[in-house]
Amino acid sequence: MPRHHLAPLAFAPLAFTLAATAFAAERLPLDEATLKQAATLRDEVLARNEAYTLVESLTTEVGARPGGSEADARAVAWAQAAFKSLKFDRVWIEPVTFPRWVRRHESGAVLAPFPHPLALTALGGSRGTGKRPLEAEIVEFTDFAALQAARAEDVRGRIVYIGNRMQRTPDGAGYGAANPARSEGAVAAAKLGAVGLLIRSLGTDDDRLPHTGQGIRRDKMLADPEAMATVAKTRSGLPIFETPIPAAALSNPDADLLQRLLERGKPVRVRLDLDVGFDGEYTSQNVIGEVTGSERPEEIVLIGAHLDSWDLGTGAIDDGAGVAITMAAAHALVRREIRPRRSIRVVAFANEEQGVYGGEAYARAHASELVKHVLVAESDLGADRIYQLDTRVGAGALGAIDQMMQVLAPLGIVRGGNAATGGADTGLMVQAGVGAIELRQDATRYFDLHHTANDTLDKIDPKQLNQNVAAYAVMIFLAAQAEVSFVPAAQVAPK
Ligand SMILES: [Zn+2]
Repeated sequence: MPRHHLAPLAFAPLAFTLAATAFAAERLPLDEATLKQAATLRDEVLARNEAYTLVESLTTEVGARPGGSEADARAVAWAQAAFKSLKFDRVWIEPVTFPRWVRRHESGAVLAPFPHPLALTALGGSRGTGKRPLEAEIVEFTDFAALQAARAEDVRGRIVYIGNRMQRTPDGAGYGAANPARSEGAVAAAKLGAVGLLIRSLGTDDDRLPHTGQGIRRDKMLADPEAMATVAKTRSGLPIFETPIPAAALSNPDADLLQRLLERGKPVRVRLDLDVGFDGEYTSQNVIGEVTGSERPEEIVLIGAHLDSWDLGTGAIDDGAGVAITMAAAHALVRREIRPRRSIRVVAFANEEQGVYGGEAYARAHASELVKHVLVAESDLGADRIYQLDTRVGAGALGAIDQMMQVLAPLGIVRGGNAATGGADTGLMVQAGVGAIELRQDATRYFDLHHTANDTLDKIDPKQLNQNVAAYAVMIFLAAQAEVSFVPAAQVAPK
């Protein structure tokens, strides 16, 4: 705010005196030395490849790490070892328990009018097709809304196919728009008597690689008592969110093929053979590293990303990059022996992909101390450059954010709005009233790769990754130093 006030004064007579007076009276939340230190930190980070080294290690030494898999445990061990070798002050783990979903094998084919193999993959949480493959005729819908408007007699006994293609946008908005087909399609199709679901992958590429992703919304099910009454449970009583019918995604070229077959007007019969499903439960861990604050150690600036990935690629952009960015950003302070006033916590969340289990476990375990979490931020939209900073902070913190922007602007980052919602893993904390920062990444090419076998290390551009680390390092340092409250005005008491 003072920046805006000072500028016009410079054109007035006696400008110098007036400006100096205004400056002293307003007392900026961050002093010049701190801003200078942040700029040095930024420039140093840009010249190093620390996050790339971390994500190279994670994707090479662990690789695909779906929640509940053998690699899940190795990823947890990797993250603990990484925090320790980076000399964080405290490193610990917290349990996260969930039903285990496994993919054994999967295939599919068009049987008629012309036979073709199909490149497809089961959606997370899908039930299997049983001992025999499922064979049925396709009924096509242009999008999820069209399925919702369908009559049961047109759907009963068939495999529903939803064909809309997601749009490519820099902010990833096309994903949200296309998402109901994947995350709610199976439940909606089953209600109308369908025996299976096939969707066009939520992806912007033309590779013959399907995109997986969760096929059922845990949050929606939990909020629906009628649905919960029918949900099966694990031996210890955890609800199992399984799609009511087998559900899979086709690669974009296979979806195009299926549509050309449907256009010919003859019945299109498909076979699905999905050997997938739930198998007991598993306890993974959130892995947490902390740089303890020097003056207010109980106050926490939290950044994080999810440690798990889907099984098809090696989880480089989703979300090995986010884990590496947040770890490297906090380590940039440790390496320079900068000890900020507040504590900085980096959380590698468990099993985000299958229902935000880690984010929920963290919010629950720390419910009573969420009031001491002053600000949260999450990196989970790939590895490409950050172009905008959004916030959800109280009015008293906007001056500090303006000062932060002075250091971030040379990275090509512009100021967005003050209505951030947090990411998947931090959203619950933001709902509980914690302040939020979103460093928005360019997602233009993210959904070419997301949840596919193509999510591998070679897709990461080290220069853009470094820009992310620099932005996070500046943000957490200044947030931990600023003598302001970030608490948004409309704070809701944490549950
Ligand atoms: Zn992710």
